[in-house]
Amino acid sequence: MIAAVGCQGCRKCDEVCRHNAIIRNGNKVVKIDESRCQKCYDCVKACPYGALVVMD
Ligand code: SF4
Ligand code: SF4
Repeated sequence: MIAAVGCQGCRKCDEVCRHNAIIRNGNKVVKIDESRCQKCYDCVKACPYGALVVMD
């Protein structure tokens, strides 16, 4: 799974996720929808703040 820790709300992860798996509260990412996520980890690589962390 991917945890969201300290999101800065830049929305760069939205530009790379092709599966609409990123769940927000306003601009801030609160979690990744595991039922949609295909584990490509493009969002993890795209985040300039290291706010998306692979947990497994
Ligand atoms: S790329 Fe990182 S900081 Fe930017 S919105 Fe996504 S999780 Fe938040
Ligand atoms: S790992 Fe891939 S599919 Fe999952 S949320 Fe990130 S960009 Fe989207």
